[in-house]
Amino acid sequence: MSFSISEKSDTIIALATPQGVGAIAVIRLSGPDAISLTNEVFKGKDLTKQASHTIHFGTIRDGEKIIDEVLVSLFVAPKSFTKENVVEISTHGSSYIVNQVIKLFIRKGARPAKPGEFTQRAFLNGQFDLAQAEAVADLIHSDSETSHQAAMNQMRGGFSGEIQQLRSKLIHFASMIELELDFGEEDVEFASRDDLRDLVEKLLRVVEVLIGSFDLGNVIKNGVPTVIAGKPNAGKSTLLNALLNEEKAIVSEIAGTTRDFIEDEINIGGIIFRFIDTAGLRETTDVIEAMGVSRTQEKMKTASLILYLFDLTDTDMVEISRDVNKLENLGVPFLKVGNKIDRHNPQLISDLKHKHPDTIFISAGEKENLDALKDRILELVNLDKFRTGNTIVTNIRHYDSLVKTRQSLLDVLNGLDIQITNDFLAMDIRRSLHYLGEITGEITTDDLLANIFSKFCIGK
Ligand code: GDP
Repeated sequence: MSFSISEKSDTIIALATPQGVGAIAVIRLSGPDAISLTNEVFKGKDLTKQASHTIHFGTIRDGEKIIDEVLVSLFVAPKSFTKENVVEISTHGSSYIVNQVIKLFIRKGARPAKPGEFTQRAFLNGQFDLAQAEAVADLIHSDSETSHQAAMNQMRGGFSGEIQQLRSKLIHFASMIELELDFGEEDVEFASRDDLRDLVEKLLRVVEVLIGSFDLGNVIKNGVPTVIAGKPNAGKSTLLNALLNEEKAIVSEIAGTTRDFIEDEINIGGIIFRFIDTAGLRETTDVIEAMGVSRTQEKMKTASLILYLFDLTDTDMVEISRDVNKLENLGVPFLKVGNKIDRHNPQLISDLKHKHPDTIFISAGEKENLDALKDRILELVNLDKFRTGNTIVTNIRHYDSLVKTRQSLLDVLNGLDIQITNDFLAMDIRRSLHYLGEITGEITTDDLLANIFSKFCIGK
């Protein structure tokens, strides 16, 4: 994708709503001719004379032929998403009508938009920075409350603001040190090395936090990888099905939702839990037993949460304590879940309450106490910190830039320690600035931009 002037100044068109049949479809145009082109095929008021942010009823006509009755929304530059003239045409939601309308506009001189081109124009016209543009993509793809929140925060600029602020302080130091270079032999020091060290250390702390947030951010975006571990017949499949069926019931209860049901994913309190290795689970292998095998152990370590499930009618205390011990050594947070409470085993239950008071007692078969289990799952992963609007990095590109920033900041610190010459110090600082700038798009290459915007779908 290139960014020539002509490309930027032509008028693009795309369907903005999903493909297929719906009550209405929205076709979006952006570019200098968006309004005048629409006016050519629209019968109703003269659109070129209407104010921004107004809606108009009329018909779209191809010559004498009426294609559809429509509502046209006008956004006059620069008061639009792309900062160009934007028109949104709401038609009836048939793909035939949509195709006819889009073809008509193309004949009149509009061009089909490339994936992400609307957002790309918004970015190029200074509507927002790159991190925010990428958040738009995340927002479109978010399917849980928490991932929606994370993308929303990022889009509003919280994330970029922090980076930009720190970066501008560092720019100040870079220029001071470069100024010292100009003075050559003279022994001047415009930039206090102690202050520089303070700033770099502060930056490092922020960068570390952001890097650390990536794992958690990733969890929000892709779900908390969860494993149900236990002996054959403990009830692992029954529990998974019980949780999934509840989810299915909830999903289908929400009228009008067409969201595809994703097998092996459940939404608890707005957070997606992704059950991994559920195929293996159905083969009812003894996961804990198999932990002796290093491959299984490695796999278990990729989980962020383990539900250790045991059959209350078929397990003794020695076995439970041995399993718990193994899981503690693994270092992944886990819950002890005693299943089949409908079939009483009073002795084991009372022993457990004594020895492992944090055990949760459920009946997967009878769907008993599943809400309590869900509460405990949420407590354990404790993602509440995400809801407070803290900055989280969910994007692999930002993560890469942050890791490179960290390295170059460490180089600056090291340089200060061994008192390297100013020109090297300035170079290391410039490198840090470069990587920080990559995150917000102050420094971009065409490749990077093309790569980012191509991930959008057409019409966005
Ligand atoms: P898995 O091998 O761990 O996946 O175990 P399954 O889910 O296949 O369950 C093994 C057996 O235990 C099946 O016959 C289930 O119907 C039964 N089962 C599962 N949960 C319960 C429960 O809560 N109560 C009772 N009574 N039986 C259960």
